[in-house]
Amino acid sequence: MSENDMPLDFGDPAGLEALREELRAWLAEHPVPERRPGEEPAEFLHRWHRLLHSGGWVGLDVPEEYGGRGLTALHQVAISDELGTCRAPGVPRIGYLAHALLEFASPEQRTRLLPRMLTGDDVWCQGFSEPGAGSDLAGMTTYARRSDDGRHYVVNGQKLWTSYAQHSDYCLLLARTDRHTPAHSSITAFALPLDRAGVTVRPLKAANRDDEFCELFLDDVTIGTDERIGAEGDGWRLAMTTVNYERNALDTGHLPKYGLLLEHLRQELRERRGELDDGLVSAVGRCVVDYQVLVAHARRRTAERLAGRTAGPESSVDKLLMTRAEQRLYETALRVLPDELALAGGAVYGEYLYSRAASVYGGTSQIQRNIIAKRLLRLPSASQSSRTS
Ligand SMILES: Cc1cc2nc3c(=O)[nH]c(=O)nc-3n(C[C@H](O)[C@H](O)[C@H](O)COP(=O)(O)OP(=O)(O)OC[C@H]3O[C@@H](n4cnc5c(N)ncnc54)[C@H](O)[C@@H]3O)c2cc1C
Repeated sequence: MSENDMPLDFGDPAGLEALREELRAWLAEHPVPERRPGEEPAEFLHRWHRLLHSGGWVGLDVPEEYGGRGLTALHQVAISDELGTCRAPGVPRIGYLAHALLEFASPEQRTRLLPRMLTGDDVWCQGFSEPGAGSDLAGMTTYARRSDDGRHYVVNGQKLWTSYAQHSDYCLLLARTDRHTPAHSSITAFALPLDRAGVTVRPLKAANRDDEFCELFLDDVTIGTDERIGAEGDGWRLAMTTVNYERNALDTGHLPKYGLLLEHLRQELRERRGELDDGLVSAVGRCVVDYQVLVAHARRRTAERLAGRTAGPESSVDKLLMTRAEQRLYETALRVLPDELALAGGAVYGEYLYSRAASVYGGTSQIQRNIIAKRLLRLPSASQSSRTS
């Protein structure tokens, strides 16, 4: 790997290089702002989101009628990649929520909700997991009871690990609307405004000192039927669509971040030749192989998306590859760079801590293996865990 082949090379079937150049020119005029004293990471990223949107760099693959640019997944991926290559923070992590709305919301809801999601006027979070329902999402107990006149629901329950709910305006919420039918047909999705009476958000501090996680308590919260996304019972399909997009390595801008760190490690090895043991050198070599496999996979996945395939269970393979590449890379980086060099906008140690969560968020690595065994390899199932289905 050399510096020259670091950006993902998809060829240039649709003016991608021109788009990358446009972004580089825009970045030259709009440098990444400094984080203000006391500004939370989520607040900083929100400011960056708005700035990116002002340049037309958010929602490239969202239709123009909903505030996007109506381009393809390939354009979106190329932009994420270019931002990482330029060491800028990535695009806002809203692609998977936008896809859920595009596929399940009514035209009126898409028109009302999507443009504000793209501008950053409304910040969204994902309210799926509960204290007793993470991997086994079908075990959720949050319940939305329909009122006698049928006009609204009253929701009670608790969500957990809801990322950045304290900074959000809306939650894509899953709740059961029927306690007597199987979970896969009794879960319903809602767009819940978080300023609604009865909603309490309590942030939790994580090991990296970030308060990303929140508990979300719902006590007699009223939600209108016009705030339901899709039909009653569509929530399971919506959830699977959302996580399949979320498990994707493409939209995150992570690939160039890994590529830059690897290049830095290779530089260190060259400069400290003879000082480092062979084990460390081969560990870096293994990271390079992980990275190349991930990049090859990302290219293939992009081609599939361009051919019109929506994200499916094969995104579990992406998630496992990304997790392995990321965790090994930061473990190795800490061995090569014991002084915790700061790179690509964040201290390596902070990135290392967050990389430990990669095998949990969006569905754990064990669950991804279950999905691969069941859905891709069609092996017989030994367990009924629902995030595996
Ligand atoms: C950084 C981060 C951000 C997150 N953000 C959000 C968010 O915004 N919204 C949201 O809804 N959730 C979010 N989550 C929650 C995440 O989806 C869950 O943590 C995850 O699905 C696992 O659920 P759990 O924590 O309840 O663990 P459990 O489901 O209790 O699992 C515990 C362990 O048992 C294993 N296990 C469970 N079932 C099986 C099985 N059938 N076969 C083999 N092993 C099994 C798991 O792999 C795991 O190792 C986030 C998590 C993290 C780490």
